[in-house]
Amino acid sequence: MQVFSPNILKTFEECQKKYEFRYIQKLNVPQLAGIYEKGKKIHALAHYYLRGDNIEKFIPTLTEEEKHIWNLLLNNKYFQMKYVNSEYNLTSRLGEFWIGGRLDAFMKDNNDYYILDYKTGAIPKNPQEDFQTMIYLICANEILKKGWGNNFNLSFVYIDLKNNQNHLITFDSDKNEHYKEILSLTCTKITTTKSYSKNLSRCKFCEYNKFCNH
Ligand code: SF4
Repeated sequence: MQVFSPNILKTFEECQKKYEFRYIQKLNVPQLAGIYEKGKKIHALAHYYLRGDNIEKFIPTLTEEEKHIWNLLLNNKYFQMKYVNSEYNLTSRLGEFWIGGRLDAFMKDNNDYYILDYKTGAIPKNPQEDFQTMIYLICANEILKKGWGNNFNLSFVYIDLKNNQNHLITFDSDKNEHYKEILSLTCTKITTTKSYSKNLSRCKFCEYNKFCNH
């Protein structure tokens, strides 16, 4: 069963050739560790902390910048809410397709539920219509509906740790239908595309630059 994740959809939209390299040919190109190192450490630390592990031994391994980011997250009002789950894999059926992804954290305040996504880099340019926002909200809504009927509120929060800001997107049923439409169209496009086009405007920072005769 193929599960369409936000990364699969984003890659396809960005450059179909890149999608072919990454997901059809399964070509993995090592990337500079430094680019993602900071984000990975903060995400791992947050997960251990939320599930109740003792994280004291990890703190001295953080750089000064990472300690600062970690403290911003610790003091974030959404991160301080009641813990439901973290590094949480969710999937949902969407017509003939499956969509899914892994939430950084799922928190609650009474009947208000929040999907948290920590960003140490930039948040999406259009967070309302980002594939990650759409997929996570649809999947979390499905799970909550099973337990609570309609007796809950759901939001997605991008925690922008670079600028110490929160960007909140509230879920509603109209938005849900709109999201489903966009995702279905994109999944259909992916499964019916036979020849993958190149987006030459994205080559400069593409890890497949050396393989691709662009
Ligand atoms: S080098 Fe350019 S055309 Fe080739 S896969 Fe990357 S972005 Fe696409």
